[in-house]
Amino acid sequence: MKQIIIATKNEGKVREFKDFFCAYDIEVLSLYDLGSELPDIEETGATFEENAALKAEQISSILHKTVLADDSGLMVDALDGAPGIYSARYAGEEKNDEANNQKLLHALKDVPEEKRTAKFVCVLAVSVPNEETVFKIGTCEGKIAYNSQGENGFGYDPLFIPEGYTETMAEISSEEKNRISHRSNAIKKLENWVKDIK
Ligand code: IMP
Repeated sequence: MKQIIIATKNEGKVREFKDFFCAYDIEVLSLYDLGSELPDIEETGATFEENAALKAEQISSILHKTVLADDSGLMVDALDGAPGIYSARYAGEEKNDEANNQKLLHALKDVPEEKRTAKFVCVLAVSVPNEETVFKIGTCEGKIAYNSQGENGFGYDPLFIPEGYTETMAEISSEEKNRISHRSNAIKKLENWVKDIK
């Protein structure tokens, strides 16, 4: 059976990738399945692409296997694309969603509704030994709300109202989120590539 390794320890992401790849008879392994001897890869890149490639290529070169990594974040137009690659640590501390959301609301406090446009971006990098890394990009357009609403999801979901919706990403079901999200839009773009996987 063909195999792909997902360079993440995020179980939600692993589940999304498993759902996609099982239709192609490809076994998905995560970093959890591979034990602890793999190093943590520092995200020192200047773009989503660079960070995703760093993770995919370094793990692939250690394991000599096909490795997929992703990097994602929120880009707000009124903030010139911030927090972007710094989304997880926008307020300073790594992955403090509450502090990040408060900082974002504060940064946009004087911004009117029509200028609160934003998008989630997900870049997938797939590294196959001795081949050029393949990139797939998915986005999800929307607006930033005036206050936090909803309990589902994670990160900026309680502040993000997807285009065509009146609720935030944290108010819709996870099935609905998976249908429209930046990550699922990037994963869908793997469809043609995945048939050639070695
Ligand atoms: P990472 O790609 O998992 O490192 O995500 C970086 C950061 O982007 C997360 O910590 C969140 O703050 C934000 N982010 C990425 N995807 C989502 C999402 O689907 N919903 C809400 N926030 C997200």
